[in-house]
Amino acid sequence: MRVIAIDGPAGAGKSTVAAALARRLGVARLDTGAMYRAVAFAALREGIDPGDGVRLGALARALDLEVGERVTVDGVDATAAIRGPEVTAVVSAVSVHPEVRAELVRRQRVWAEAHDGGVVEGRDIGSVVFPNAEVKVFLTAAEAERARRRVVQDDLDGDHAAVASDLARRDRIDSTRPASPLAVAQGALVMDTTGRSVDDVVEEVMEVLARL
Ligand code: C5P
Repeated sequence: MRVIAIDGPAGAGKSTVAAALARRLGVARLDTGAMYRAVAFAALREGIDPGDGVRLGALARALDLEVGERVTVDGVDATAAIRGPEVTAVVSAVSVHPEVRAELVRRQRVWAEAHDGGVVEGRDIGSVVFPNAEVKVFLTAAEAERARRRVVQDDLDGDHAAVASDLARRDRIDSTRPASPLAVAQGALVMDTTGRSVDDVVEEVMEVLARL
C-alpha cells in the first residue's frame, strides 16, 4: 500500500497539490479536513457543544459519512455547508478531542486499505495516521498568501485581514492541541509554496517519488 501524506496549515495549497498529484499518479485522494468539517457540521445540526468530546466521539462513530467529490453526512449533501463560516468557526475546537480523532483516524486507515493507498491530506497524516507513508510532504506558505488563496478558493467576500486572522486562530488551535497537533513529521519534505505554481510543486514531489 502506497500512501503519500500531505500535511500543513490552512491555505498552504494542500488540496490543490493533493488533487493534482493524485491525478498525475492515477490514484485516489482523501481530504481528511473534510471529515473533521463533516463532524463539525453534524455537531452544529444536532446542537452538540464543541467542547463535549464524549458526545462528539459518539456522534463521529455513528455518522454515515462519504467524502469524495461530494461530501454527504447521514445522506445530506454537505459539500457547500462544510466550507461555510459556521463550520469553519468550530471545526478546530471539534478536532481537538481524542475521541473524535480516534474514530476519524480509524476511518482514514480503512479508506487507505480499501483504495490500496493514495494521496491523503491533513494535519497529522505523516506524523500519526500513516507514519510509514512512502513520501511525506509538509506544505507551508506566507500568511498573506495563505489568506489570499482561501479568499479565492472559498469565494469569500475578499476581507483578507479577517480571513488571515481566522487562519491564524485555527493554526494556533491545531498546533497547540495535545492530541496529534499539526507538526512536521519526521522525514517530511518541507516545501514553502509561496509564489510557486501548483505544477512546480507537484513536479518536485514527482521527482522525489521517481528517486525512490
Ligand atoms: O484542511 P481544512 O482546513 O479543511 O481542515 C479543517 C480543520 O480540520 C483544521 O483546521 C483542523 O482543525 C482539522 N483537521 C485536523 N486533522 C486533520 C485534518 C483537519 O485536525 N488531519
